[in-house]
Amino acid sequence: MKKKINLLIIVSVLGLIALSIIQGYLINNTYKLKKEAFITETRRSISQIDDFSPALDSLSDIWQDNFLNTIADYKANTATRADILDGLQFVIDSINDTYRSEYQKELVKNNIPYGIKFHKRVKAIVLQDSIKNDTIFDFEKTPKRIVLGDPISEDKEIGVSTTLWQTDHTSSRIINGENKEIVFYLLFQTQDKMDIDGWEKIVFKQMSGLLLLSLLIFSVVIGLLYYSIKSLITQKKIADIKTDFVNNITHELKTPLATLTLATKMLKSNEVQQQPQLVDNTVNTIERQNKRLQKLIDQVLTNSLGYNEIQLHKEEVHIENYINTILDDFLLAVKTEHVTVNRQFLGSKQTIQLDKFYITTALLNILENAVKYASDNIIIDCKVKRNNELKISIKDNGVGISEKDKKQVFDKFFRAGNKEIHDVKGLGLGLYYTNQIIKAHHGNITVESKEGKGSTFILTIPFN
Ligand code: ADP
Repeated sequence: MKKKINLLIIVSVLGLIALSIIQGYLINNTYKLKKEAFITETRRSISQIDDFSPALDSLSDIWQDNFLNTIADYKANTATRADILDGLQFVIDSINDTYRSEYQKELVKNNIPYGIKFHKRVKAIVLQDSIKNDTIFDFEKTPKRIVLGDPISEDKEIGVSTTLWQTDHTSSRIINGENKEIVFYLLFQTQDKMDIDGWEKIVFKQMSGLLLLSLLIFSVVIGLLYYSIKSLITQKKIADIKTDFVNNITHELKTPLATLTLATKMLKSNEVQQQPQLVDNTVNTIERQNKRLQKLIDQVLTNSLGYNEIQLHKEEVHIENYINTILDDFLLAVKTEHVTVNRQFLGSKQTIQLDKFYITTALLNILENAVKYASDNIIIDCKVKRNNELKISIKDNGVGISEKDKKQVFDKFFRAGNKEIHDVKGLGLGLYYTNQIIKAHHGNITVESKEGKGSTFILTIPFN
């Protein structure tokens, strides 16, 4: 059964891990899809701005006109390539602030609710003619960056589109005193880039419902699993306890029942019937065994009571005298000279309100256990101390209780699983009942013990 439970726990945990991995994978995929959808949507809005804004268009016209002029100069050999790029940079710098502020205005107009940085970056400038291509600028081959718009660091930029401006241009220049026509074909490629402020947060926000729901489902699954395994373990414990109890009570009942069977057989025999003394002895045996059975049944019925079912009849008791009487009676009852009880009283020449009958039962249970679970010479130290509460500690030099069993000795029907100890008769109710009695007095009981080194039971009872 224990193996089965362990297997169940392992399988459930593995299942849970697999489920978490699948869920993580799905969430990651959803995140990627949402991110893609969000970026595509933003791209679409941004493209519209660029296409339909007259203000941005007229700014573009400024740099484009200027640029075509410098190219014509270059073609007329009155400007170098460096002049073209410097000229372009100069115009862009002069219009850039206006461009950026116009762009932000367009974003507001288009109801884009998050911050966006945008820029156009020159990718390539090529002059084509029938003989050869003349590359003025190639983004890939130079560290120089010509950018119109907001500065964006390369690790943050998101591509919007690549635009190709192609134009067939004719202008006139005076060369060597002659008016000449300059014709060129221009390819001007730009890349549009953007950076969306805190886009990760925006996507996460969009996914928050899904994340919360999965977290909730996950917690419910873990909770259910924990609850199921816990109840399985509890049920197994209860089943074990029940089996133990049935075994113990059968064991306890066997001896008196066997004696009763034997005694009744004896009473029936003519030989015994003719001897009145033997009849008397046998009847006494039957009476004793009968009482023993009765006591056993009472023990099961009474000692199973919970603390709230115990009806206390408290009376004023002189602590020292009362405990001395219990110890004296106990010594008389144990009938063995191997038991020594050491007593120590501190400030206990006082009275306390308690139920004499129940507290006597509680203390006797502990004292009897000290004998039941003892080594050869039994030494019991009983210390009674009165501070704000009454503290009684009963220490024995017996077999002791293991760390694991210590937590359970006050549980109903619990008996320590030690073979040595199991030879001792018992139902596992004594300490349970003792604990209930002390609880009914609003006190508490603890045990300190080490296997083979004896045990100390400490009872604390408050004064009211
Ligand atoms: P029972 O004695 O009928 O088994 P108890 O409730 O009195 O039931 O005790 C529960 C278990 O606690 C015992 O079976 C025993 O294993 C352990 N125990 C109790 N008292 C002592 C003790 N003084 N020394 C060692 N073990 C003890």
